[in-house]
Amino acid sequence: MTIATPPARDEAQVRRAASVDRSIRLIQTGATAGETCTPELAKGPWEFDRGPIGYGPGSSMGDVIPTGSPRQGDLPESYRAASQDELHERIEAAKATLGDRVVVLGHFYQRDEVVRHADFVGDSFQLANAAKAKPEAEAIVFCGVHFMAETADMLSTPEQDVILPNLAAGCSMADMADLDSVMECWEQLEEVYGTEPDADGRVPVIPVTYMNSSAALKGFCGERGGIVCTSSNAETVLEWAFERGQRVLFFPDQHLGRNTAKAMGVPLEQMPMWNPRKPLGGSTEDELQDARVILWHGFCSVHKRFTVDQIETARAEHPGVQVIVHPECPMPVVDAADGYGSTDFIVKAIQAAPAGSSFAIGTEINLVQRLAAEHPEHEIFCLDPVVCPCSTMYRIHPGYLAWVLEELVEGRTVNPITVPDEVAGHARVALERMLAAKPPAGAVAKAGTRVSDAIASPAAAPAAEPTD
Ligand code: SF4
Repeated sequence: MTIATPPARDEAQVRRAASVDRSIRLIQTGATAGETCTPELAKGPWEFDRGPIGYGPGSSMGDVIPTGSPRQGDLPESYRAASQDELHERIEAAKATLGDRVVVLGHFYQRDEVVRHADFVGDSFQLANAAKAKPEAEAIVFCGVHFMAETADMLSTPEQDVILPNLAAGCSMADMADLDSVMECWEQLEEVYGTEPDADGRVPVIPVTYMNSSAALKGFCGERGGIVCTSSNAETVLEWAFERGQRVLFFPDQHLGRNTAKAMGVPLEQMPMWNPRKPLGGSTEDELQDARVILWHGFCSVHKRFTVDQIETARAEHPGVQVIVHPECPMPVVDAADGYGSTDFIVKAIQAAPAGSSFAIGTEINLVQRLAAEHPEHEIFCLDPVVCPCSTMYRIHPGYLAWVLEELVEGRTVNPITVPDEVAGHARVALERMLAAKPPAGAVAKAGTRVSDAIASPAAAPAAEPTD
């Protein structure tokens, strides 16, 4: 199918088209057709900061939030009442005053009204590294979620403050594996396997945590011979772990673990799920003995929304469409897609495609809508027709960004994220192991295994580091 290349648009048009906030307003006022997952999306996040503890409206609103999760205090009225235009001007003015003293980082999944103020836009690991590239900045304002700000704190200099504009911006998937539950699991596994290495020197089990986890869990891995992975390098990291261990305990995202291990040839029956609420995670001792990858019972509620039915509908309604999904999607969705990979992979695949390509994308709506606005030469749409952003990413509103920046102008640092030294030391070990892990000789980027040649070309292959 050939799609005519539309005329060039100015920046304001691109911004309007990219804004999920605007789409939500238009749908909810009946100005355009469409569906949102909840009418609450139109409210300001501060309305949820005050209410019962929860992730807020969006994809993870039904997930169970752990007690003790950080809460955000009241946002002053002048920010809550301000219009988008006023907030935009206040943010610009504060940034101009602060100059190089501040760097604003924006995750791909942030709303467009926030991303437009970011000095760097990318995935969590790219952003943590971007912070390192600005050592002169006294403050790093991380427009993303809590675990990302923690990673930025660990990779930035001790003199730099990392600020999360809304403390309630956690990550429901990261919260599904807490340190206590993982320690309990580890003790049970040690009882089953012992701690002695086999004849090849491989220990019974290596802990592997996805980047989307707390600093405490990264520290847990660093302390126990384990490692961190991202959605781009998960296969390289599993190879690293299998060289050193007989099996892997993978947390918190079961889907990334399963999709990656399956692509490496690990049979599904050797990937038992660990349910922290059941003895031995719900498996028998024999099943655990036979296991190659033990998958933690965690998932991302954004990527869980994508289904094989949606893929079939996209193909029926858009002949020639290429379906690319994120590896946090369930296995049947990844299997049915034309390709899969990290957000960075998706971005590069679209950039590398010939004009007139058609893409159905299975990842967070803010990124998909921005890509569609920036690439009018392609047809790009979200696989899920219901507008449903990540609840926690959505807790960052321009009002909070304006607040933290204006506080910095006044010499006050609000919402700092600090990882204690004893945790950060071990966590950095696990991160450094990840950076040192190299793909096996002759290996090629695996993301997008069945995508078209244009997408799978080396130019589109993702770098090793990018994640979520
Ligand atoms: S998209 Fe999923 S993994 Fe990413 S922050 Fe949201 S809930 Fe967490």
